[in-house]
Amino acid sequence: MNATRTPIVYFAPMRSKMKRSLVKRAGDLLDRAGLREAVFDQDLVAIKLHFGEQGNTGFVQPIFLREVVGRVKAAGGKPFLTDSNTLYRGQRFNAVDHLECALHNGFSYATVEAPLVIADGLDGREAVDVPVSGKHFDSVRIGAAAVHADAMVVVTHVKGHEAAGFGGALKNVGMGLGCRSAKQRMHADFRPEVTAETCTACKRCVQWCPVGAITIGPDRVAVVDYDVCYGCGECVAACPYGAIATQWKTDAGMLQEKIAEHAAGALSGKSGKVLFLSFLTGISPDCDCWNFSDAPIVADIGVLASTDIVAIDQAAYDLVNAAAGLPGSRGEGLSGGVDKFTTVSGVDGTHAMVHAEVLGLGSRTYDLRTIE
Ligand code: SF4
Ligand code: SF4
Repeated sequence: MNATRTPIVYFAPMRSKMKRSLVKRAGDLLDRAGLREAVFDQDLVAIKLHFGEQGNTGFVQPIFLREVVGRVKAAGGKPFLTDSNTLYRGQRFNAVDHLECALHNGFSYATVEAPLVIADGLDGREAVDVPVSGKHFDSVRIGAAAVHADAMVVVTHVKGHEAAGFGGALKNVGMGLGCRSAKQRMHADFRPEVTAETCTACKRCVQWCPVGAITIGPDRVAVVDYDVCYGCGECVAACPYGAIATQWKTDAGMLQEKIAEHAAGALSGKSGKVLFLSFLTGISPDCDCWNFSDAPIVADIGVLASTDIVAIDQAAYDLVNAAAGLPGSRGEGLSGGVDKFTTVSGVDGTHAMVHAEVLGLGSRTYDLRTIE
């Protein structure tokens, strides 16, 4: 990034005209942001996305990825779609299940015209140690396919997040491209706490915890076994009574700083070779790792593109906060100007952006340019 120049974030609002679909305009944004400068002839280009979980509907749909693939090919690159395996035992725990999940959600060569490659391999162990100069880490383990790619296009669905507060490009890259051991290191300090007075012993969190860390104690209150818990935060979102909370002033901030340091590793060595495309559509309060999507907290806003990962996240955050909360959603009653993500999740999701700026990944100051 050029430190003397305010980074540009290109913005395509939702309103579309005949022959100017949002699909085409999203592709145009990439070109405006500098795709042909970032991708050289014969470059292997990792298109980082989230394939969604079965039952989830918030992830960026294959029709948009097909457009991105077409633009990368037109620039001379050889694109592949990629993500890393999850830490928890779900539908994307290994490459076999992960690819089955992707197919279930409509991603295949037939639909996107590019191969699907799981970045950290069959079982999450194909990773590369990348040196970083962070507060928490001096090296991070990143999925090998992403490290070895010549260039990258990061396609992000913007949403809330139960543990990190905000799910933007930094989280997509940092958490999303970290291999399983990296994800464990990022989550290691996150501890959910149960409020006994609020807990009804409904057992919903017991059913949701991917590693069986929660039981109902003799006093009819949920109990977390911290020797088993790996800090995924899913129980926080699962509890219908708000009885489980994060120690967000310390833990969530540290989680976000660790995410930013993993993003630094994932982007290392690719200066000028990475573009970010973020979709502010179906902005759900929780992440796409769930097997459902709750009602969007604000109306669809549009699509952003930039070469600056911090600027695009800050612009997305600001645009969501400027919008009014949607009736019938968890954003209901929140007026324009209210911090939607912090209010809905209880977690201040700006730490990752602040830390990423300190690390030199980009700028929280940006120049927003609207492209019709
Ligand atoms: S954060 Fe909650 S859901 Fe996740 S492992 Fe710990 S107890 Fe289980
Ligand atoms: S989901 Fe909430 S109310 Fe139900 S048992 Fe767990 S902590 Fe208690």
